[in-house]
Amino acid sequence: MPSAIIIGSGLGGLATALRLSQNGYKVTIIEKHNTAGGRLNTFSKDGFTFDTGPSFFSMSYAFTELFDYCKIKNPLTLQPLNPLYSVYFEGNNVPLKIYKDLDKLQTEFKHIEPELKKRLEKYLKKAGQLFYDTEHIVIDKNFDSTLSYLLALSRVPWKHAPMMFRSMWTELENTFTSQEAKVIFSLVAFFLGSTPFETPAVYSLLNFTELVHDGYWNVKGGMYKIVDELMVLLKARNVEFIFNTEIVKIESQGERVTKLIDKAGTSYTADVIICNSDAASFRGQVLGRKISLLKNSIRWNGHFRHLQFI
Ligand SMILES: Cc1cc2nc3c(=O)[nH]c(=O)nc-3n(C[C@H](O)[C@H](O)[C@H](O)COP(=O)(O)OP(=O)(O)OC[C@H]3O[C@@H](n4cnc5c(N)ncnc54)[C@H](O)[C@@H]3O)c2cc1C
Repeated sequence: MPSAIIIGSGLGGLATALRLSQNGYKVTIIEKHNTAGGRLNTFSKDGFTFDTGPSFFSMSYAFTELFDYCKIKNPLTLQPLNPLYSVYFEGNNVPLKIYKDLDKLQTEFKHIEPELKKRLEKYLKKAGQLFYDTEHIVIDKNFDSTLSYLLALSRVPWKHAPMMFRSMWTELENTFTSQEAKVIFSLVAFFLGSTPFETPAVYSLLNFTELVHDGYWNVKGGMYKIVDELMVLLKARNVEFIFNTEIVKIESQGERVTKLIDKAGTSYTADVIICNSDAASFRGQVLGRKISLLKNSIRWNGHFRHLQFI
């Protein structure tokens, strides 16, 4: 039986473990904390339970694809959010509710942006074209090198190119008149860990995903239910979990990683080794790579975030 080690029990590590177990691997997950879930986690205080990270997600069909791939009935009950979210502006106790239904949304904005529906339809049409023109070329692809990424980009219709060089904020300024509409539809830039001033306008496709495509969802029982259910499935497949163990060093032969070493000096090896740690910290702290020009370009242009440089 081939073996696999996954560093990190975040959602990516758990989902990968499920896929590998489906493909006949004996999987071990090594996690530095004492619980699974990574950023998707939870804590309880005074009888309340809080999410530490994600509270909703888009592209709910990714779960369907995962469970179909593993031939498992989806154990999660996904709940569409309606309204998607509410936004409070300082000094106003009445939130603006963001609905997918543009007529309802127009009613929310009637005193703020009277032509919201018309303007938003135009904006979303353009964002939708970009989404469908890039979905299977860039969005759902992984890139192992800058070259493969640039080659993929060269297949995207050139009419979208100006959006690479304009900021999201400029795009919104050209579309809406009210500060409220500009601020609200720029919030998706923060999901990327960036700001609308630094994020290229191509990310308006995230407005398309929230308002038109699949919307936002959460899970009955709370977001941590995703981790709980995955853990049940993984344990049933004899996936081994090693908690409180941090990988601090790797050994390699040429391009191939051969051994992982933890803080206590214990070493681990497997036929396949997968790192689902935070790429930036692992690259610096464990692989000892210096900040490169490319990394600077990640800061400069959020678009390069698609790349993984381990
Ligand atoms: C406050 C907050 C709010 C968010 N809100 C949303 C949201 O609403 N919707 C949404 O879709 N996303 C949201 N996100 C992003 C989302 O949480 C992450 O994209 C997702 O959880 C990342 O999963 P991951 O498996 O890639 O990595 P992580 O969750 O980061 O998992 C990595 C795991 O690897 C472990 N690890 C790292 N290094 C080592 C090592 N050397 N040895 C052993 N173990 C190691 C870590 O302890 C961790 O458990 C939010 C994030 C935060 C922080």
